[in-house]
Amino acid sequence: MQQKPRVRFAPSPTGPLHIGGVRTALYNYLFARQQGGACILRIEDTDSTRFVPGAEDYIQETFDWLGLPFDESPRLGGPYGPYKQSQRKEIYKEHVHRLLENGTAYIAFDTPEELEAQRTEKTNFQYDASTRMGMRNSLTLGREETDRLIQAKTQYVVRIKIEPGHDIIVDDLIRGKVVIHSSVLDDKVIYKSADELPTYHLANVVDDHLMEITHVIRGEEWLPSAPLHVWLYQSLGWAESMPQFAHLPLLLKPEGNGKLSKRDGDRLGFPVFPLEWRDPLSGECSSGYRESGYLPEAVINFLAFLGWNPGTEQELFSLEELITAFSFERCSKSGARFDLEKAKWFNHHYILSTPDSVLADIFMEELRRKEIDAPGEYVTRVVALVKERIRFTYELWDQTSYFFEAPVSYEEKTVRKRWKEETPAQMKELASLLDALDDFSATSQEQSVMAWIEHNGYHTGNVMNAFRLAVVGAGKGPHMFQITELLGKKETISRLYQAVESIA
Ligand code: GLU
Repeated sequence: MQQKPRVRFAPSPTGPLHIGGVRTALYNYLFARQQGGACILRIEDTDSTRFVPGAEDYIQETFDWLGLPFDESPRLGGPYGPYKQSQRKEIYKEHVHRLLENGTAYIAFDTPEELEAQRTEKTNFQYDASTRMGMRNSLTLGREETDRLIQAKTQYVVRIKIEPGHDIIVDDLIRGKVVIHSSVLDDKVIYKSADELPTYHLANVVDDHLMEITHVIRGEEWLPSAPLHVWLYQSLGWAESMPQFAHLPLLLKPEGNGKLSKRDGDRLGFPVFPLEWRDPLSGECSSGYRESGYLPEAVINFLAFLGWNPGTEQELFSLEELITAFSFERCSKSGARFDLEKAKWFNHHYILSTPDSVLADIFMEELRRKEIDAPGEYVTRVVALVKERIRFTYELWDQTSYFFEAPVSYEEKTVRKRWKEETPAQMKELASLLDALDDFSATSQEQSVMAWIEHNGYHTGNVMNAFRLAVVGAGKGPHMFQITELLGKKETISRLYQAVESIA
């Protein structure tokens, strides 16, 4: 029986999660669900100097909001825990020991100053097979001296010993077989005695193996690390259970040149983070998709298309549909250009497919903040009338405020164009006509009003626009009689009189 895939999303809590990281997590999730496997959240927090408080909660909150639950995580636990690298120190030490014992790693005492001196002396200095025998390490000093230095509490690092003359093969589901010659790699540091912690590379590989990860799906920026990871797998004797790699294409700036950065977001006015983030040190606030009015479904659909396409014309995909359709064969190798207009387009579509009552619930929170008390049923009908005109829920107030407050001012250009000498008298006539209606439905109003206009030979455009101006305060909004039907007879008539009084 073939093993069910196990994948992981492994962010480092060094700040807010970038939207590209959310895309990585999404692809992991889609693949795991499609294959009936497991999707794991592992927090890679071994670099204590870059730790940022609140970042881990932010990651969890992001996936709660998006509705992408993990199967195992620091919060949920699971059979392969703990899921935070800072809680796995002993495990890494054990594996460092194993590498030292089998001779695939060694201890190095070179101080930062000594290394710096080498770099100044030789421009392309690299700590590797060609230079290591001239450095201060266990290979040159011998066992006794090494033990003595360690006992004397000399700080050291452990380096992986890369042997030259080998082809290292990274089998990538998106890029095919990537072959790298071992002599281009350096003897990377995998452990530091100073904080008794492994570096990213070792912790990452050890955990992927122990957590039985079958597929490593991550951003392209990690592709250069992959050969070293393959080497580490081999050095630890795990070559047989090496995971499959899939390095996802970079997210590019909207203009298409270079990696998408936070600065692009600031420059062009769009969020590059899923949720709003306040930096705990500087207090600086960065906008998020959630706070900017995006629906989770829209963000998911939009991100799914940044690096993958279904090969058909279909663009709107529910999460279930994405799970079915996703494949690595249809992931692109080249960078995916970030297209904000497309994100807005997706949001508009998801607004249209969101039930009116759900949008009304979102909108009512805003109304409550404005101390407007309106019944849910009324708000739902208001939302239904305007949802075609909005891309974000925060546009609702601007589109509908006149449903909750009578106009206090009247758009000047419409007044100039439509409010004629005869208009006040016509509006009063209109008010009496509407008052006499038993049936105040949009159709009934429309029939009577049109007949009245025609009978008197009035100018339809002027009358209807003046009517709109009186009720809405501006020349915008959906069908006039749908507005008045919702507002009701009393309110409509009162607004007509109010306009006659206010507009000189
Ligand atoms: N901790 C790395 C990151 O922050 C993980 C990279 C990987 O998935 O291997 O993205």
